[in-house]
Amino acid sequence: MERVVMKYGGTSVGTIEKIKAVARRVIKQKKQGKNVVVVVSAMGKTTDKLIKMAKQISNVPNSREMDVLISTGEQQSIALLSMAIEEEGYKAISLTGFQADIKTKGAHTKNVITEINTQKLEKYLDQDYVVVVAGFQGINESGEITTLGRGGSDTTAVALAAMLKCSCEIYTDVDGIYTVDPRVYQKAKKLETISYEEMMEMSSLGAGVLETRAVQLGKNYNVPIMVAFNTGEIAGTYIRELDNMEEKGVTGLSVCEGILMITVDNIYYKPQNISRLFEILAENHINIDMISQTAPKKGMVSVSFTCNADDRFNVEKVLTTYSANMNDVEYTIDEDLIKISLVGVGMMNQSGVAANIFKAFSENNIEFKQVTTSEISVSYALNKSDMLRAVNSLARAFNL
Ligand code: ASP
Ligand code: MG
Repeated sequence: MERVVMKYGGTSVGTIEKIKAVARRVIKQKKQGKNVVVVVSAMGKTTDKLIKMAKQISNVPNSREMDVLISTGEQQSIALLSMAIEEEGYKAISLTGFQADIKTKGAHTKNVITEINTQKLEKYLDQDYVVVVAGFQGINESGEITTLGRGGSDTTAVALAAMLKCSCEIYTDVDGIYTVDPRVYQKAKKLETISYEEMMEMSSLGAGVLETRAVQLGKNYNVPIMVAFNTGEIAGTYIRELDNMEEKGVTGLSVCEGILMITVDNIYYKPQNISRLFEILAENHINIDMISQTAPKKGMVSVSFTCNADDRFNVEKVLTTYSANMNDVEYTIDEDLIKISLVGVGMMNQSGVAANIFKAFSENNIEFKQVTTSEISVSYALNKSDMLRAVNSLARAFNL
């Protein structure tokens, strides 16, 4: 019998009415003769509320207890959804991560799935049950309850689909993946399909529809993933392996806000001096994104790098330490930057993408501060005030 994993996020199960609506949509697939596994997140903002409560007790709550606490959100929603399905006259059973045999390892609140034994789950499917599994949680070797990191229900869903060798349907509050975030660019087009690689770049670059880990897992196990609006009535976007025919130069554009750029001038040019800067940054757990260095001029170089605006305080600390022992060094911090990235697997064997981006920027007089590239993306850091103009001109230039 055909199987499917359906996943509903927090907003889609945010109220009892919504849970009842999900039950009806699940039953619709059941009526089509499918074996259905449903993965759900905690209702609405439940996880946030639980974390807030813990923070009222301690700034650094015990992480084992944190897992015991935040896993309860999903435990509520699975039970309620199972009841709602039964109320409609269908068999349903809820399983927590532990009951579904989802084995994990790692640090509490940041576990990764190592293995899922689907025997029990399949036994229920064979007996015609809809199996409702708690997302975001599992059990480690010591038998402790664990969680998979924020947004981890996507990963649970794709991992289950991988083990059950079926497709995974992610139902959410957007109706698919767009070439550009429609809130930023209204004329953005919905993509029918997107490759795993492109989706991974898009999610890690800021298009937060789907957890990056889940897409990676989908790619590794070749799980077709569909992202669609939670009513299930509008066609969504398929994430899967694409053949060459479908490759375009640029598939999508993503915007990431809250970027800082730091420029350190007058560094006496010696590899050790550069290395020391990045060592201190690493020691302070600052995650660096873009980096550039000027060619030496009179024995001096400048180094610029970008990082998340949340790291501002730590960055200043690092720069003070660094410049303390280096006489001429000066630094500037550019705030309120954004990063715009253009993504497309077609870039790998197409030239001219960067040329077209530079052209769009020059025609529209948009200044950029940094550029980096990967095999399938080009990213630019620029002033937030130029965001709309930049997005519009690039979307037009690449017909997004
Ligand atoms: N409830 C968890 C969270 O809010 C997991 C998820 O929603 O995917 O992060
Ligand atoms: Mg999510």
